[in-house]
Amino acid sequence: MATVTQPRPRTAASYQTKMLIDGQFRDGVEGRTFATVNPSTEEVIAQVSEGTAADIDLAVKAARKAFDSGPWSKMDARDRGRLLYKLADLIEANIDDLAALETLDNGKPLKEARHGDLPLVIDCLRYYAGWADKLTGDTIPVRGDYFCYSRREPVGVVGQIIPWNFPMLMVAWKWGPALAAGCTIVMKPAEQTPLTALRLGELAMEAGFPAGVINLVPGFGPSAGAPLVDHEGVDKIAFTGSTEVGKTIMRNAARTLKRVTLELGGKSPNIVFADADLDAAVDGAMLGLFLNQGQACCAGSRLLVQDKVYDAMVERLADAASKRKVGDPFAPDTDQGPQIDDDQFRKIMGYIEKGKEQGAQCVAGGGRVGDKGFFIQPTVFADVQDHMDIAVDEIFGPVMQVLKFTEVEEVVKRANTTDYGLAAGVWSRDIGKAHDLAARLRAGTVWINCYDVFDAAAPFGGFKSSGIGRELGHQALENYTEHKTVTVSLK
Ligand code: ADP
Repeated sequence: MATVTQPRPRTAASYQTKMLIDGQFRDGVEGRTFATVNPSTEEVIAQVSEGTAADIDLAVKAARKAFDSGPWSKMDARDRGRLLYKLADLIEANIDDLAALETLDNGKPLKEARHGDLPLVIDCLRYYAGWADKLTGDTIPVRGDYFCYSRREPVGVVGQIIPWNFPMLMVAWKWGPALAAGCTIVMKPAEQTPLTALRLGELAMEAGFPAGVINLVPGFGPSAGAPLVDHEGVDKIAFTGSTEVGKTIMRNAARTLKRVTLELGGKSPNIVFADADLDAAVDGAMLGLFLNQGQACCAGSRLLVQDKVYDAMVERLADAASKRKVGDPFAPDTDQGPQIDDDQFRKIMGYIEKGKEQGAQCVAGGGRVGDKGFFIQPTVFADVQDHMDIAVDEIFGPVMQVLKFTEVEEVVKRANTTDYGLAAGVWSRDIGKAHDLAARLRAGTVWINCYDVFDAAAPFGGFKSSGIGRELGHQALENYTEHKTVTVSLK
């Protein structure tokens, strides 16, 4: 039974639950609210203002005004950077409170929110703060008596739609490059986890971002996300979420020819060769799959292990999985909290049943933990075959698939046989072989002898159905800027 202490970082009445439009926290036009639930206890944490098309319209108008004629467009780039630094400082000053709020709303272990997510949030904002005054153009040697140069200009008003798995980190990944580039923002946080984004909205106002630069409209996909994608006043959509919704967004954004960047799902291969440091590979495989309750788009959910070490790896993984402590995410020794909601819980349990039915060997876990909260045992399937549903579909839960391979050529082919292409891992002491694989794997990120190593400076994103465009690094700034060419006659 997962025991859950009552996590109350603040009193319920003190959560920010209203939407942020034009510098004001306010109720929605239609006065609707929705409940945000603690996934550990299934209790309602707070009622949050629910945005609809009318609120999106107000938010877009505020963002438009701030972009077209407000102080934002006239502000020196370096001062935009200073505001981002200020926001990062305020987040750092409130780090424990923010981590607790994230754990309350999302269910991730507090130690991960505090020591994993939040340092990355702060680092990301500081990284982009430094970029604000470094977006330069070129002078271009054209034919004839002309002086030709290019400018980097902000793309305009951007709609940003984010998921629930890393709520604050997704805010940072989206706000950092957009604000550094000089865009204004209408963001829709995920309906499951609106509280930390709204708290970051408060801190952004405290930092001094002008009204309308950052707007936050919580709500549901079809009733708040879709009108944002449709709105004529929005120049670009940045989306992180499922591949299915990503396709819908791209289709809908085509009507107004918005720029679209998408960071979508994955079914990432994590390949362990017999010559790997097996202790490190076991740790890396565990982290790569079970981090964040398995709710990560880059989860190494197809663990391909070379035949000579297959049995030893399976035994060690089953042992490591069964030792993971599942329960109260506020407890310091908890490794795994609950899944985000009942829908995800049921979907994951369905895949566990399918894995058993289709003949995979469940060597660890396979069941629910307790009867309250969405807790699932860390689960490991061995003898998984490429065609099984658990080897093909993104499960987005604590369910590991271990597959056996023999040869390098075989594993490259099998690793690439997927619609996705977000990430991959390679474990080997033969560094030549590892680099060779890194070049041949069709994935946006390849980790060699490590997994889930993120840095604000290193671009992240997908090949194939895992997305379009890159987040992080200087590459993300491309998403938020237009290149303008200016040609001047010298005659
Ligand atoms: P997940 O499966 O991780 O919940 P989704 O793709 O369903 O991911 O949701 C990610 C984000 O996209 C959420 O903020 C959700 O509200 C939003 N969303 C869902 N459907 C739509 C839609 N049709 N248009 C715009 N946004 C949507």
